[in-house]
Amino acid sequence: MLVVSCQLVVRPSSKKPTTKNQTPKTFKDMPFSDIIGHRKQLESLRWALEKDRLHHAYLFLGPEGVGKRAVALSLAMAIQCRENEGDSCGGCADCVQVRGGNHPDVRVVGPLTGKREITIQQVRELERELSYRAFSGRKKIAVVDPAFLMNFSAQNALLKTLEEPPKNSLLILVSTSTGGLLPTLLSRCLRLSFAPLPTGIVASFLVTQKGLEREEAELLAAMSMGSLGKAVSPEMKELVQRRGVWAERIGSLAPEDCRGWMALAEGLASVREESLEFLEWVGGWYRDVLIYCVTGSSQEISNLDMEKNIKQQADRHSVERILYLFSQAIKTEASIRRNVNRRMVLENFLMQIVHSF
Ligand SMILES: [Zn+2]
Repeated sequence: MLVVSCQLVVRPSSKKPTTKNQTPKTFKDMPFSDIIGHRKQLESLRWALEKDRLHHAYLFLGPEGVGKRAVALSLAMAIQCRENEGDSCGGCADCVQVRGGNHPDVRVVGPLTGKREITIQQVRELERELSYRAFSGRKKIAVVDPAFLMNFSAQNALLKTLEEPPKNSLLILVSTSTGGLLPTLLSRCLRLSFAPLPTGIVASFLVTQKGLEREEAELLAAMSMGSLGKAVSPEMKELVQRRGVWAERIGSLAPEDCRGWMALAEGLASVREESLEFLEWVGGWYRDVLIYCVTGSSQEISNLDMEKNIKQQADRHSVERILYLFSQAIKTEASIRRNVNRRMVLENFLMQIVHSF
């Protein structure tokens, strides 16, 4: 029987829970001018700030790790800064406090440690703070991130604030999706969409700011699909290593080797996060194969260093078959998220892959 050689490493959740008065690990703030990408969004916010035309509530929407929270906090800093008009100086007392996560007029709310949702108690506390007069004489600002983790009661409570916003208050909801958010809540926020960053920008950042070699930087940028937050995370480097093991294991399986793919499924199924990460990667792999199959080019693929294998797969399968396997990866991932038996759905999925050889 083949031995499963995958390293079963638990990938920590990318959504770091935060506690009251604790600076989140991803807390970043900087002048608008230092934000990478998102020029149109920044111009829009800067214009509104200069003209005193800021909306009372925003929804910053876009993929994980592209800089939504950084922009929200940069806006908070620009509003509170005593020195600069239309941007922040980064050095005055207000800028320092916002950067330190302890400005009395800026609050960031996320799930409490060990919790998976933002509760009504947190929202009520937030509403109370927003109703106070700003210490700085400017605005009371609240950033809710990730907003989609507000439970139903919390969203309903927040709705009342949005219907009658306190004077000089600003609420910014940061979210990767509108799913799970009440339509009535969404309709009261001005939506600002954030697209993935061009991979060239991410790669250049990794070379110039992180000192990576160009080849490694381009691979990480492609693998993170325009998410700077993901590209710089240690988890992404681990994923780059693990997917090589996964690809090798799958490639070594044969249709008649029933024990082999069952053992692989068993190994992957033992850790939920591992199985989800595997399926997300396999989905991306078939996306790459599909791109190569249709365009004959590797320009948009994410597994840049596996171009040869991707080309082999593209030559071997029809577009319909690749689409089918891609959809099965997504369905299997969704099943595991719904807590269907992991081993069973992974066995079924791997069997379909192996019988495509
Ligand atoms: Zn300042």
